[in-house]
Amino acid sequence: MDFEDTPELATFRAEVVAFLDEHAGPKHGDDRDWSRNGAATDPVVAEDYRRRCREWQQLLTDHGWAGLTWPERFGGRGLSPAHQMVFNQELGRYDATAGFITAAQALVGPTLMQHGTPDQQERYLHPLLRGDEWWCQLFSEPGAGSDLAALATRAEQDPATGEWVVNGQKVWTSNAQHADFGILVARTDPSAPKHHGLTYFVVDMRTPGIEVRPLVQAQGVAHFNEVFLSDVRIPAENVVGEVGDGWKVTRTTLRSESSMISGAGQATTFANVLALARRCGGTGDPVLRQRLARVYTDELVLRWMGWRTQTAVMTGRYELALHGSLLKNFFTGAFARRVDLAMDLEGAEGMLWHEAEGDGFWQYQFLNQFASRIGGGTEEVHRNNLGEQALGLPREPAVDRDVPWNETRRS
Ligand SMILES: Cc1cc2nc3c(=O)[nH]c(=O)nc-3n(C[C@H](O)[C@H](O)[C@H](O)COP(=O)(O)OP(=O)(O)OC[C@H]3O[C@@H](n4cnc5c(N)ncnc54)[C@H](O)[C@@H]3O)c2cc1C
Repeated sequence: MDFEDTPELATFRAEVVAFLDEHAGPKHGDDRDWSRNGAATDPVVAEDYRRRCREWQQLLTDHGWAGLTWPERFGGRGLSPAHQMVFNQELGRYDATAGFITAAQALVGPTLMQHGTPDQQERYLHPLLRGDEWWCQLFSEPGAGSDLAALATRAEQDPATGEWVVNGQKVWTSNAQHADFGILVARTDPSAPKHHGLTYFVVDMRTPGIEVRPLVQAQGVAHFNEVFLSDVRIPAENVVGEVGDGWKVTRTTLRSESSMISGAGQATTFANVLALARRCGGTGDPVLRQRLARVYTDELVLRWMGWRTQTAVMTGRYELALHGSLLKNFFTGAFARRVDLAMDLEGAEGMLWHEAEGDGFWQYQFLNQFASRIGGGTEEVHRNNLGEQALGLPREPAVDRDVPWNETRRS
């Protein structure tokens, strides 16, 4: 396989580098980098990080570097996934990020492009691309995570106004406390089997009846939230896709999610770990050198896995595309190896928090590995997907597949 750039991609890469050289500084791989402050526990630093993410996304948009693969009619450049990959590779060397905006674009963008009405596309896609409006994903519930289709949040249509009235609770909602809009899945027909009778909505997070309660994690920050919905009124035009056909729309979002998690720009890279090894004097130890080589290899393997999938999509040879579950699980395994090594390099100091090298950056990332192995589908559930969808193994028994949801047994 030839991993060199084609002449067209080489020209594009040179343009990317020229743009980044002009607008961003090099990444140092230590606490001089503002782009690592998504992990900040100091609210002032965290707010500054969000401001800079927004400004960076606006700069990208204004200079034609946002939405590289989005169709031109939605404000993108209609380029190939390989162009996006080249951009991400180069961006990884600079101290710049759009943070959660990138994730929101991956979740909401393809979903609205594929299932949204022209009015919804017109209203939401450009501000999403520019990072002017922030989004969250209101899917998981206390009783529905891996088995998302079992969700119980209820939406009933008010016959007088046509509005949908939503009641229920969501949980683990990343970024809800900063979001302007949410993508929400709710049950509109409880008498249908669980995958049917769901409807997908866009909800304005400032609607009366929405209460967001941040959940503070072990790292001391609230990445995600509980969201309580009490008689929340959603206009009929905010339904995405057909009423009762929300599972189809949800699947589009979920498909984008696992690829996004494994393909997004990473807060930690081999370069970070190597810089840490040099500072801690770990580069002479043969065992640590071997682990550094493994981290380096992981990074290359991940890049090639992404490259192979994107090439398959570009050439229409879908049989060569790697399953999103494979990418996600390899990514989380590589992440775990990277942060475990960083903690070992810090040695006894790794047991500290803000007093440790880099103001607790590696301690945050070490704890974050567990979240990344659960968010976007757990490793076990992705293995099930691989077994059933890639290897053709027998499906898991599902006692509730054709049973009306309101007759299923739930905790
Ligand atoms: C950092 C982070 C961010 C998140 N952000 C969001 C968000 O923005 N919006 C949102 O809606 N959700 C979000 N989530 C929720 C996430 O999607 C769920 O946590 C995940 O799908 C697992 O669901 P659960 O937590 O209910 O665990 P459960 O589904 O209760 O699983 C518990 C355990 O049982 C195992 N298990 C369950 N079913 C099976 C099975 N069939 N076979 C084998 N093992 C199984 C799981 O692997 C897990 O170990 C986020 C989660 C995290 C950690």
